[in-house]
Amino acid sequence: MERHARPYNPGMKYLKGYSPDTRNKVQLLLDRGQLADVLRGRYPKAHGVRTDKALYDYVVDLRNSYIRNGAPISKVAFDSKMQVIAHALGTHTTISRVQGMKLKTKHEIRIATIFRSAPEAFLRMIAVHELAHLKEREHDKAFYNLCERMEPNYHQYEFDLRLYLTHLDQPGGANLWDMTRTLPEA
Ligand SMILES: [Zn+2]
Repeated sequence: MERHARPYNPGMKYLKGYSPDTRNKVQLLLDRGQLADVLRGRYPKAHGVRTDKALYDYVVDLRNSYIRNGAPISKVAFDSKMQVIAHALGTHTTISRVQGMKLKTKHEIRIATIFRSAPEAFLRMIAVHELAHLKEREHDKAFYNLCERMEPNYHQYEFDLRLYLTHLDQPGGANLWDMTRTLPEA
């Protein structure tokens, strides 16, 4: 049925893990030019976490509320060099080194800078994901259970975040929550 074939849209790479039915619906929104409005309607505002210090406090607060006896976090930062690909919206690294008689472990979390001007839901989803890795290494059931315990809407937020990445990947796809731009008067 060739007449139904769509040109390959490389921007759909962020939605590979979802069903063909879901991807078709997203493609329809793109074809109609509605995806940006859907996202902005669902998430009208950007979060206010603007600096690495504010980001550190945000992530550590979240951790303290949900993870007991978790490893301490040494550093949290926005990373402008991070390439956002299907599986790297943020990263966590654990560096262990011997200091005197002790083994010191440092945990660092980095979040791609594009999420500095984004809805809080997206920042929260990434923070939850990287925090869950402090306890669970693999993306298995235990990992996602922990994510959902920290944020019951985890899967919805991840899907919407991937919709946003899909939007950005389209020709002319601009940041929808760029706070440096002045909004037109309502
Ligand atoms: Zn992961």
